[in-house]
Amino acid sequence: MSAAAARRRGLAVILSSPSGAGKSTMARRLMAWDPTLTFSVSATTRPPRPGEVEGIHYYFRSRDEFGRLVLDGEMLEHAEVFGNHYGSPRAPVETALGEGRDVIFDIDWQGAQQIANSALRADVISIFILPPSIRELERRLRERGQDSDDVIRGRMEKSAVEISHWAEYDYVLVNDDADACEERLRTILRAERLRRVRQPWLTAHVGGLMEEFAAR
Ligand code: ADP
Ligand code: 5GP
Repeated sequence: MSAAAARRRGLAVILSSPSGAGKSTMARRLMAWDPTLTFSVSATTRPPRPGEVEGIHYYFRSRDEFGRLVLDGEMLEHAEVFGNHYGSPRAPVETALGEGRDVIFDIDWQGAQQIANSALRADVISIFILPPSIRELERRLRERGQDSDDVIRGRMEKSAVEISHWAEYDYVLVNDDADACEERLRTILRAERLRRVRQPWLTAHVGGLMEEFAAR
């Protein structure tokens, strides 16, 4: 069996939550735990927040540039969120998955639906992160200190819509304690990587076991 046939495809791990529930924090923690994880850097028409770096947090694009990427079929999915356009560039994701690397997406329910219905569906694990309470969600948005009062109000108003999609996800976690939430995420990844279909080398291994039986 060739090395490529023995290697599993990567997982497309989708994290969604209402803004402020902690999905970026969890994505960062997972990547520190397993540096082989690849983050899908989205393109967006939203302006950078203080400290955000082009190519690391987002690809910041004008509306025209974004529209062109969509028309050229370069987006795996895209959606309008809080009045701005966001999308996941297709090429880096397809390369990583093909090379057996797991990819983390921090995207909203619209993007999650599009990827779950795409050709990638067999590779997708979707995880929804809930806040312990709406009061705590608002506290976290304020504590993050990156958005104006108006923006925070807008994000809180959209939270109910995002949360209403919770039951469309494979896994749902409440991010109460950050360490506990991270541990649950690690458990999901460990188990998903052990699924039979994600260990293609098993076919050759079992073939070897059968040959050993026959030679006894
Ligand atoms: P999102 O990416 O979902 O918008 P962030 O990851 O930016 O949310 O988290 C929002 C704020 O909440 C950040 O300041 C982060 O440090 C904080 N935070 C994340 N998880 C927890 C947690 N379990 N307990 C307390 N604060 C948290
Ligand atoms: P923020 O502006 O706080 O970085 O992100 C706002 C929302 O847009 C979050 O819910 C985030 O998950 C979502 N988002 C970020 N990138 C993408 C993307 O590429 N596609 C989609 N559909 N949503 C995204």
